[in-house]
Amino acid sequence: MYVVVGGGVVGLFTAYYLSREGADVVLIEAESLAHSSRAAAGVLEFTKFELNRINVRGYASRYLKMIINGKAAIRRIDPLWLLTYLKVYGRDPDPSVWTFMSEMAQFSKREYFRLAEESNDFELREEPVFEVVEDVEKEVEALKKDPLRPRFEVGELDGRQVIVYLDAVIVSTDLLAERLSRELKNVRILKGRVAHYGDGYVVLEDGSKIEAEGVVFSSGWWCRKLGIPVAPLKGYGVRATTSKRPSRAIADFVRGVFVVPFTKWVKITGRFDVDPYGDLKYLPPVLEAARHWAGDINAFDIAVGFRPCTPDGLPVLEKRGGVVIATGTCRLGWTYGPAMGKIAAELALGKRGDSPLSARRFAAR
Ligand SMILES: Cc1cc2nc3c(=O)[nH]c(=O)nc-3n(C[C@H](O)[C@H](O)[C@H](O)COP(=O)(O)OP(=O)(O)OC[C@H]3O[C@@H](n4cnc5c(N)ncnc54)[C@H](O)[C@@H]3O)c2cc1C
Repeated sequence: MYVVVGGGVVGLFTAYYLSREGADVVLIEAESLAHSSRAAAGVLEFTKFELNRINVRGYASRYLKMIINGKAAIRRIDPLWLLTYLKVYGRDPDPSVWTFMSEMAQFSKREYFRLAEESNDFELREEPVFEVVEDVEKEVEALKKDPLRPRFEVGELDGRQVIVYLDAVIVSTDLLAERLSRELKNVRILKGRVAHYGDGYVVLEDGSKIEAEGVVFSSGWWCRKLGIPVAPLKGYGVRATTSKRPSRAIADFVRGVFVVPFTKWVKITGRFDVDPYGDLKYLPPVLEAARHWAGDINAFDIAVGFRPCTPDGLPVLEKRGGVVIATGTCRLGWTYGPAMGKIAAELALGKRGDSPLSARRFAAR
């Protein structure tokens, strides 16, 4: 039997692929399935990694500017994470990592289209995203340097020049989380929090012990308890009915909000705070910003999400004895979810060796 700890997007896909391989699977989730993951906007960016690269030169000063302008906040920071961040700041990964990331993205894209072909009950659509940015020329230069080679053009929206990202795929993460839960018919889903683990077992907070051939930790930023430098970059995801329906998916980096229309609601997301607390302290400015695109907002569902971010913005996929760790997708967890799950499942089943995304990279000088 295999145990998957954490039922966010990565854990759901891990359980899905393990179960498709015929494995007996128990998925343990401390809260409700995808309670954090479903905060996401649902913009899948298979050819763009720029947003995740929080360690490129200049990022720290941009983030500081966001803090000064009230667009981001640091409420608690892990010293191990900060030290590692300083160590990898400005460091580029080996070029082979980009080939690996690109293959992961293309695998994920194929899987989403396969799931949608079976039944598009999660509103998958290929559609450009309109990005409102401070400085279009600077953004064009940054996009040209993106190792995944995004297709884009400069367009117009609301009387200003914007970036139109052409390779985007939109999905409803709320509906996709429900679909994935339905796909897990053969998986035993257990509500509980794993308190500790050992070779071939996990122990829940209530003291119950579950033995397993393999354990996958897909527990988001909580993987820091396993010594992985991963921080919670918190954001909000709101489903709302609105007085104005935006005609397209908008990523407004100037106001700090994404606004994405779906059939029955508009998804509004925002904030990128270093913040492990589950409160709604910084939600009001997100809703205020969204009014520009959506008019009056009647929020009927609010999710708080914690993007698990490593200091270099790249994921961690690693096997340590009988334990696999799959985390660190930061802003792109839905984009890479299927590939993260597939690789984690293969690592657990012994069907592949280690991956180029081991956390050992942080130990290197
Ligand atoms: C506002 C916002 C907008 C976003 N927009 C996008 C987007 O448009 N496109 C995109 O690709 N990505 C987006 N993301 C990023 C994406 O949502 C994350 O990368 C993704 O959710 C990470 O998934 P995960 O499964 O690794 O972690 P999580 O979603 O954090 O899941 C981990 C799960 O593990 C559980 N857990 C933790 N510890 C334990 C334990 N000890 N025992 C049992 N269970 C445990 C937690 O309760 C949690 O449910 C967005 C994120 C946010 C917050």
